[in-house]
Amino acid sequence: MSYQLLDGKETSKQIKAEIAEKVSQIIKNGGKQPHLAAILVGNNGASETYVAHKTKSCVQVGFKSSLIRFDNDISECELIEKIEEINKNDDINGLIVQLPLPEHISEDKIIESIIPEKDVDGFHPTNVGRMTVGLPAYISATPKGILELLKRYNIKTSGKHCVVIGRSNIVGKPMSILLSQKNETGNSTVTLCHSRTKNLKEITLQADILIAAIGKQEFVTSDMIKDGVVVIDVGIHRVKSDKTKSGWKLKGDVKFDEVAPKCSYITPVPGGVGPMTIVSLLQNTLLAAKKEIYG
Ligand code: NAD
Repeated sequence: MSYQLLDGKETSKQIKAEIAEKVSQIIKNGGKQPHLAAILVGNNGASETYVAHKTKSCVQVGFKSSLIRFDNDISECELIEKIEEINKNDDINGLIVQLPLPEHISEDKIIESIIPEKDVDGFHPTNVGRMTVGLPAYISATPKGILELLKRYNIKTSGKHCVVIGRSNIVGKPMSILLSQKNETGNSTVTLCHSRTKNLKEITLQADILIAAIGKQEFVTSDMIKDGVVVIDVGIHRVKSDKTKSGWKLKGDVKFDEVAPKCSYITPVPGGVGPMTIVSLLQNTLLAAKKEIYG
């Protein structure tokens, strides 16, 4: 079977151009430049890379971006004070705190200290709740980006069996809710699988659309899928390589080489879900600047 790549890199370029056009319209009409602030605690290599991509993308679409760095030993209290200061700062539309945080800081408390109006990551319980009942909300960037990618490739979800592997609050869980919503990008029958799921393969073999957000390198193999499936690979794993200049390359949660030939569509890693996640964050920031969710 010949498969088609779901090209997140190319799609995200188009979306960035659309966002840049909207930003120039805002400025032409005398409006303010959208402004995203990012907080980075410590110097985790992967987090540094993610934040660098996000700030670079802001500049590409004409947003203002601010990076606020703290050492690993910042206290939870000090971090919350900074967030509260940004909550009140009218110049900043959106705020993200890069996860994971050091162990002495509660991620839940930090997420809850960002006001929902600026929570462009869509992690605050208010945004999660609003999303769940179908009210306007900031939607977590990775599932939002996946829905956008499916939409742009005209892949319908209605009536399909979507199997999501992974139940994290930022990917698997919101993905399963969004796919089952009564709307154009939902209307599917969803099975959410996780580490306690029995007979995983029996379930994944039924999937019309399979979303792998497990965090285990090349976990999904060709014997786990049926012919013609659409596979979305969320995983990102940095592995050593002597074939690249940097000395490492990225792998996903799916064993691409053996799975792809059975698929109708599949996302590559890199260049699939990753770039779509970043543009979704930009879209959320634009919504925040235009006050479209909370008025
Ligand atoms: P997580 O570690 O929080 O969750 C993993 C989930 O997988 C858990 O819910 C667990 O129940 C499930 N799981 C683990 N082992 C399993 C097994 N044997 N069978 C079935 N389910 C199992 O992960 P996350 O934050 O959702 O991230 C998942 C992956 O996606 C990671 O590789 C992460 O780096 C990547 N990620 C990528 C992007 C992107 O933009 N591309 C964004 C977020 C996360």
